[in-house]
Amino acid sequence: MSARVLVVYRERADVQPYADAIASVGVEPLLEEVRPGLGIGLCCGLVLTGGDDVDPALYGEIASPETEPPDPQRDAVEAALIDEALARDVPLLAICRGMQLLNVHLGGSLIQHLPTAGRHVRRTSDRSLPAHRVAIQPGSLLASIARTDTWEVNSRHHQAVARLASGFKICASDPEDGTVEAIELPARRFVLAVQWHPENQISSDPGQRNLFQSFATAL
Ligand code: MN
Repeated sequence: MSARVLVVYRERADVQPYADAIASVGVEPLLEEVRPGLGIGLCCGLVLTGGDDVDPALYGEIASPETEPPDPQRDAVEAALIDEALARDVPLLAICRGMQLLNVHLGGSLIQHLPTAGRHVRRTSDRSLPAHRVAIQPGSLLASIARTDTWEVNSRHHQAVARLASGFKICASDPEDGTVEAIELPARRFVLAVQWHPENQISSDPGQRNLFQSFATAL
């Protein structure tokens, strides 16, 4: 029997690319809609996916006009799953919103809208194509996965890490404006979060598949 990982979603239509990417490395994705009491159970890994903005109240801010309406249930359910994963040292791969919630839940904060902080929102019309470059921190878990010091990544976020949660290390950033693009938690076996969407990129950049392969190896 192959390893099984929990993949949490709010919209079923959004989760298929994550499920396909996970299945492509021989891992079974258990897709679960956000609901109270959801736990990791017998799964041996957790994937937090993209979605709407984290409630700014969780990092002590008033919502800016550009911030999406909050989904307190999703924030709370996924925060509990983060706690469970960290307590049990279950491998965690967090993508986009997942990265932002991970940072906020562990005490960090977010830039609510990149342009108001003088940063760029960079998106491509084709989700599988890169939008900008990230510089990867040598010696990081991410560097060992990417085996290169720069990656061309896709992008569709308008928020980003501001204050970094304690214990975390920035492992990739945008070399042009310093935007935090990936973080990891060295105190755990595998806790890695990226701001881009590797699940959409593996078709055009096989290197991005290494993220899922390394996650699978850590299970
Ligand atoms: Mn980006």
